Amino acid sequence: MKFGGTSMAGTERIRTVAALVKREVEAGNEVAVVVSAMAGETDRLVQFCREANPLYDEAEYDVVVASGEQVTSGLLALTLQAMGVPARSWLGWQLPIRTIETHAKARITEIETDALIAAMKSGQVAVIPGFQGMMEDGRVSTLGRGGSDTSAVAVAAAVKADRCDIYTDVDGVYTTDPRIVSRARKLDYVTYEEMLELASVGAKVLQTRSVGLAMKMGVRVQVLSSFVEPGQAPKAGTLIVSDEEIEELKMERQLITGIAYDKNEAKIILTRVPDRPGAVATIFKPLADAAINVDMIIQNVGREKGETDVTFTVPRADLARSLEILEGGKDSIGYNRLLHESGVAKVSVVGVGMKSHAGVAATMFEALAARGINIQAISTSEIKVSVLIEEDYTELAVRVLHTAYGLDAEEAA
Ligand code: ADP
Ligand code: ASP
Ligand code: MG
Repeated sequence: MKFGGTSMAGTERIRTVAALVKREVEAGNEVAVVVSAMAGETDRLVQFCREANPLYDEAEYDVVVASGEQVTSGLLALTLQAMGVPARSWLGWQLPIRTIETHAKARITEIETDALIAAMKSGQVAVIPGFQGMMEDGRVSTLGRGGSDTSAVAVAAAVKADRCDIYTDVDGVYTTDPRIVSRARKLDYVTYEEMLELASVGAKVLQTRSVGLAMKMGVRVQVLSSFVEPGQAPKAGTLIVSDEEIEELKMERQLITGIAYDKNEAKIILTRVPDRPGAVATIFKPLADAAINVDMIIQNVGREKGETDVTFTVPRADLARSLEILEGGKDSIGYNRLLHESGVAKVSVVGVGMKSHAGVAATMFEALAARGINIQAISTSEIKVSVLIEEDYTELAVRVLHTAYGLDAEEAA
């Protein structure tokens, strides 16, 4: 069972969570619980780091931001104990949850489970703070924003759980964010592949990595709401299934599964870059070395003879570091001006039906054009089309596209 930030926001909410855990224990299950920090807490801690040092050391950032989950894991264990349910917390470094690569976006390699399984078998609920792990050198690490989902799936895989229930503040995965489109429809099932793509383009209901891991390890994931009336059982949520299961269920496949948006990218433009082999590599290699993920890229040829403008997006959190790196590389890259803009959003439509249907992108461009929304960049994959637009138009764009692809529910929720 995993509980997100809103589910853990305050002792009253934690009591509701503890009651859901107790239900499972009383049903005869051995339970491991993964918890997030209280809603807003991680943002607050990140802000402290920025104030302390805008170009913060990510190892120390991890020390600060991992603390939110330490608090909630202890509080949930205490609340369970108060309800007569044996429980204890297991911090990332205590299990340990081993991680590698970069601080602030570390990757889990292994979870030691002997002590954990022994405790669970003895009837004790294991409460594990999400989002955190331990690097090879023993330092605290975190898994990137939204990382508790990944912690939960990794724990589920490690203890060979029957299921990984991800409790959140909505009752499942919808055709788009139900908070901005009231006519969004809840999906009973979604395939790993579709969920992976939706998450990767911004549907933050699940962290992308958690879906990839669930797919790889065959973990059965359900997304459901922790907001239940006292004493009530939770309602069935959305089950993530394989392609084969969808075939067996004989579900009718939709052309488009869903629409997502992402306001966490920033646009960078380098003007008058020399148009010769290797020029683009001198831009992107140092960013890759700094573990900065570049997303959309466009190169406009034919500006002046032998010159080109290069536009791309990076995570907003990495903008300051990206600009610093590019400024440092001005001579070797040989650009004229370095421009950047944060007021952009990426809107994407996702659906496996695209593999066999033409015209999905055209519908998108027409629907946006009809509302006067300008497209600044485009990228596509086999099952998705993304466009970069002005941030102020995000909600409008998502609503317009939801209608254009026939996804609107019959009646507004
Ligand atoms: P938690 O704190 O439980 O991890 P998150 O805020 O990370 O919760 O994720 C849940 C939120 O994801 C919902 O409140 C909703 O606004 C948002 N969301 C975005 N896209 C979708 C979608 N397609 N289906 C459901 N929720 C979505
Ligand atoms: N608390 C962390 C965050 O806000 C991890 C999580 O909630 O999944 O990103
Ligand atoms: Mg989340």
